[in-house]
Amino acid sequence: MANKFVYFFGNKTADGNGTMKQLLGGKGAGLAEMTRIGLPVPAGFTITTEVCDLYYKNNKNYPDGLEAEVLANIDKLEKTIGKKLGDANDPLLVSVRSGAAISMPGMMETILNLGLNDKSVEGLANKTGNRRFAYDAYRRFIMMYGSTAMGIDREKFDDIFEDVKNTKTRARLNIAACKKVGDTDTDVNELIEVVNSFKVLYKKELGEDFPQDPIKQLWGAIGAVFGSWMADKAITYRKVENIKGVVGTAVNVMQMVFGNMGNTSGTGVCFTRDPSSGENVFYGDYLVNAQGEDVVAGIRTPIKLSDFEAADPTAYKQLVDVRNTLEKNFKDMQDMEFTVEEGKLYMLQCRTGKRTPMAAFKMAVDMVNEGLITKEEAILRIKDRDIEGIFYPIIDISEKDSLKKAFLVSGIGAVPGAAAGRIALNVKNAEKMAANGDKVILVRKETSPEDVGGMHVASGILTATGGKTSHAAVVARGWGKCCIVGCEALKIDYEAKTVSVGETVLKEGDNITLNGSTGDVYNGSLKLVQPALPESYTTIMKWVDEIRKIQVRTNADTPYDAKKAVELGAQGIGLCRTEHMFFDTEERILAIREMIVADTVEKRVKALDKLLPFQRDDFKGIFEAMNGKPVIIRLIDPPLHEFVPHTEAEQKQLAEKIGIPFDTVRLRVNQLHEANPMLGHRGCRLAITYPEILDMQVRAIIEAACIVKKAGIPVEPEIMIPLIIDDKEFKLLEKRARNVADTVIKEQGADVKYMVGTMIEVPRAALRANKIAETADFFSFGTNDLTQMTLGMSRDDAGKFLPDYVDERKAAVFMADPFQSLDQDGVGELLRIAIEKGRSTNPNLKLGICGEHGGDPATIKFVAGLGLNYVSCSPFRVPIARLSLAQYEVEKNKK
Ligand code: PEP
Ligand code: MG
Repeated sequence: MANKFVYFFGNKTADGNGTMKQLLGGKGAGLAEMTRIGLPVPAGFTITTEVCDLYYKNNKNYPDGLEAEVLANIDKLEKTIGKKLGDANDPLLVSVRSGAAISMPGMMETILNLGLNDKSVEGLANKTGNRRFAYDAYRRFIMMYGSTAMGIDREKFDDIFEDVKNTKTRARLNIAACKKVGDTDTDVNELIEVVNSFKVLYKKELGEDFPQDPIKQLWGAIGAVFGSWMADKAITYRKVENIKGVVGTAVNVMQMVFGNMGNTSGTGVCFTRDPSSGENVFYGDYLVNAQGEDVVAGIRTPIKLSDFEAADPTAYKQLVDVRNTLEKNFKDMQDMEFTVEEGKLYMLQCRTGKRTPMAAFKMAVDMVNEGLITKEEAILRIKDRDIEGIFYPIIDISEKDSLKKAFLVSGIGAVPGAAAGRIALNVKNAEKMAANGDKVILVRKETSPEDVGGMHVASGILTATGGKTSHAAVVARGWGKCCIVGCEALKIDYEAKTVSVGETVLKEGDNITLNGSTGDVYNGSLKLVQPALPESYTTIMKWVDEIRKIQVRTNADTPYDAKKAVELGAQGIGLCRTEHMFFDTEERILAIREMIVADTVEKRVKALDKLLPFQRDDFKGIFEAMNGKPVIIRLIDPPLHEFVPHTEAEQKQLAEKIGIPFDTVRLRVNQLHEANPMLGHRGCRLAITYPEILDMQVRAIIEAACIVKKAGIPVEPEIMIPLIIDDKEFKLLEKRARNVADTVIKEQGADVKYMVGTMIEVPRAALRANKIAETADFFSFGTNDLTQMTLGMSRDDAGKFLPDYVDERKAAVFMADPFQSLDQDGVGELLRIAIEKGRSTNPNLKLGICGEHGGDPATIKFVAGLGLNYVSCSPFRVPIARLSLAQYEVEKNKK
């Protein structure tokens, strides 16, 4: 059978229903469903989203059979209503509106009052007994059709209307020159003059008369709606909102009803519950004697629903009945648009209402308590954005106007929430400002481990380069600190101490505000508010933990982060990056630098001995904070050159402090320089060359574990060796680590159990997983490096060209940034191979993920399906991971 392109609704029956959003769009599915369940919906039909898809695939031609179907549905509509399009006595008028599966407010076109022509306008006038009303509708239609469907500049219509108002109407009503003449001041003769002038303009612009044939008008309007799907603003909206997999817009053609027929008519928008607090109260606005476009345009101030009840109790009662029916039917909060025509209510739209994070939690819990939905359904309702929104401070929305004025530039929103403070261009100044009690925004071209102190004191971080897994982003995410990266339009001049965007130049110390959720940067300090954690959050998370089966760990390097993560529900540490600990104090930096510049094993061991107590103390703190929960500690990972001083002054200072010649330091720094450090001497390769580093770290870990255990606190240390490529390499290091660990346990006389495992970060390791797993206790997928190495794209530089690989107008290779959401077809396949091979030789192999993807909902659900034991993510993403794992179980059980 040929495809069905048009779905009718009217007379309490509909071809479609509420589940058909993909095909009919949100609006079309809502109208079909409301009709089906007996609500008062004007009759009409929906042309499917598939037609839009075919239209673009077929060089902007409609598919065969569409025309006949549309005409047949017009015929059906006319019969259902008992009126005809273009009729000279009592014409049918229709609206033509867009509606995709995901709502894109204001992005696509609408045409109202279609079907009016020189004859039917008189028919409308006679039937309604209101000629002014009829000509007002006609002038609106010519303007909408001329501008939207035919591309005439809208201003040209406005100029004509303004001209008539300012000459004729002003003179007739004697309105003072200083006062504005309103649209409603015009009389019928003036509107007729406007209509005639509009028609002259139409002919002048297009070389043909304004179409009098309603069917010709209809095809023009349908073409305009489909055309608007590919308008720049719609494409940009889909990109910004990350709307994927939606094939096109539907077109809804529906009988017009009029809210502007006097004081028993009106139009409104309402929500079945309060969308900002979630309270179970009816919420909305109503405009007496108005058409829908007047509400949107904000020409007049609407009245509250309570005043609507007082003004028109009968119409209000009909609306309340609809509210109750809709909630029962959709089992979710609905956003609805309606019109009252001479006391009779008509529903023009309903859809699942957008809500604040607070409201999302409250409504989900309330609806379970009311018996409307199950706990499982409540869990599926919550979005990761809702959880983020509940924790992060936000810009006060009452600042809307100042927001617009203050906008400066956009980058990549790496960590959501908002922050406002003074610009600091280096760590020293950031710390100084923070010590003075100022809020600070650290602004850098990029950040490195040396900036960590400044990042820590800052309220927000802004960098000109880097992507979502750059250093700045990873560190900031760990702290839940607002961060924007890759803000390429930002010019930072460290010498002049300025930050500029085009003509705007800001000085260090000036205030800026970041919105990490959108990536927008604002000039000045905007007001922020901190939403309090609601009780409904606790309830939902309790249900989440009852349902999920896979554990959630955290990536944490300090006792503070570890404690925070446990509060947020972490069940262990999946990655403790030990190198971050070396930068904490001057003393530590000196000791690590001394170790690096050492030119003999003895000197290196001596320097390492100085580091040992620091590391032991750190691990002790973390074990104590985790109180028996498993802790994976990764041995040092980054290339050594990241730790050495790069300027001559710093090198001289180091030489002096540790008592060696400056030339030795300089030589060593030069020796360590690498053209491509990400593929260089890093990870376990350091331990292959300098095994004494491994010795020191394992000793520090196990000594700390023994001390804590002896103090009566349980410990579960898990030692992780990074960047392994081969089983020989792993076995060598693993054996050495176990030797040191066993020696320490014996020395200490403590009963400590530990594990030794590896990260799978290099494709070769995934392919050799069966061999590596022979002696590894666990694998943790380091998907940051694994993505980088599988794609052959640097994780720090990919931001420059990767967007083209995601852009629907360019390559569109990936649906989302693969450094953020796992490339399931490529990197995911390596995970599958490694898991299968690993478990084939070691059925008890423990498996987890600790790359940034461990906090991404789509990735979490994917790896849950692969059978991982846990996911590990930044502390602030722990609740999101818990939710995603519960949603995975619910979705699995539904299949
Ligand atoms: C990884 O590569 O995924 C990982 C967790 O390690 P890092 O980000 O420290 O390289
Ligand atoms: Mg790595």
